[in-house]
Amino acid sequence: MQLQFLGAADTVTGSRHFVEFGGARLLLDCGLFQGFKTHRERNWAPPPEVLRDLDAVLLSHAHLDHCGWLPVLVKHGFRGPVYASAATCALAEVLLLDSAHLQEEDARRANRGGWSRHRPARPLYTAADVKRTLALMQPLAPGRSRSVAGVQLQLVPAGHLLGASSLRLSRGDQTLVLSGDLGRDDDLLMPPPQAPGAADVLLVESTYGNRCHPQEDVQARLGEIIRSTVRRGGSVLLPSFAVGRAQALLLVLQRLRAAGEIAADMPIYLDSPMARTATRLYQQHARLLRISAREAAGLVDEVTLIETPQESQALQRSRWPKVVISASGMATGGRVLGHLKAMLPNPRHHIVFPGFQVAGTRGAALVGGAREVKMFGEYIAVKAEVSHLEGFSGHADAEGLMAWLRAFPKPPSQTFVVHGEPAAADALRCRIQDELGWAVRVPAQGECWSA
Ligand SMILES: [Zn+2]
Repeated sequence: MQLQFLGAADTVTGSRHFVEFGGARLLLDCGLFQGFKTHRERNWAPPPEVLRDLDAVLLSHAHLDHCGWLPVLVKHGFRGPVYASAATCALAEVLLLDSAHLQEEDARRANRGGWSRHRPARPLYTAADVKRTLALMQPLAPGRSRSVAGVQLQLVPAGHLLGASSLRLSRGDQTLVLSGDLGRDDDLLMPPPQAPGAADVLLVESTYGNRCHPQEDVQARLGEIIRSTVRRGGSVLLPSFAVGRAQALLLVLQRLRAAGEIAADMPIYLDSPMARTATRLYQQHARLLRISAREAAGLVDEVTLIETPQESQALQRSRWPKVVISASGMATGGRVLGHLKAMLPNPRHHIVFPGFQVAGTRGAALVGGAREVKMFGEYIAVKAEVSHLEGFSGHADAEGLMAWLRAFPKPPSQTFVVHGEPAAADALRCRIQDELGWAVRVPAQGECWSA
């Protein structure tokens, strides 16, 4: 078995792991780098030599840092199958098309504003590249095993996001497991991650490797924020990932209403056509969720769905207190930027980030206390209140990761800690070494390993 760590090695994004396993050449996840510019620039490098003649790509889940680079691979000639769960295939369509759309939009805007270093600015890929990519996707049923170039592949539900799975690959008596992103035991929507059985080689994520989620009641906290903001005549903006987080927020807002903790007629807007589509997919796949069919069906009851950009702009101008959910979740693009531009300079409003913020993003700057942020080529003063509700995280925290690891029936011969900022990855490595006594290391970007 040979491994090469092509991403998510020194950072939390760009998940890409090449494995050659008894002759089969596979890429596990094919994610975009996000966050710092030096990381994002890696997206523009052509696929390395080792990715030529791949037999297949296997995806753990549909977040862009796990599947968002697939269209680049396809642009460079990859025509093999891409295996993932059915829900991941459905969500990947939504996320990849949106990613292409945002990149085309950014390139157009940069060309108009003339602030790109590249003339003309080009998108990394287009909707046409994404359509070619989607045609390669083949859904796999979770739990069932299937042979991919002589390797038995099995998807093990990982919580975290609709369709998210750990990847279990076996050949002969050797097994490799990639955790993918692991969810938490007390997620609002997803059941806890399942144990994948024994592994010889394990790649485990470490997003929250050095942190534990605060014991906060997110519903009570969000209720309090909404009530106090509305009292001073302000509105609450929830920059949210359109997939997963937006549905959890809708669920909590419906529960707050049902409990009388916010007014039944409090206007709630979902300003993200992608979140609307994703909500429909969550409703279609409701049997994979931990909430009742009734709650799943009621997620957008009495929620105003904003469709057009014109409606979004009108909503930005409206002075009535309201709650707005809009994407993207780390304020790196999308309609949320227009709302931020309108709301940040006004101290009456409250911006609540309900999820992990990758270092280098506007979201991370804002929760870190930035007094101004740059968007659309200009600096916007930050006067609004900014909060971070980490309790909405879709990731297992350090204790959750350790609990998942303790469920392995025997120590893997080699464990690699991936998908974390350096401090988080190293903290998890120390705990695995000290508390479990396993052979463990944090691989470097581009590092090769063979057994
Ligand atoms: Zn994820």
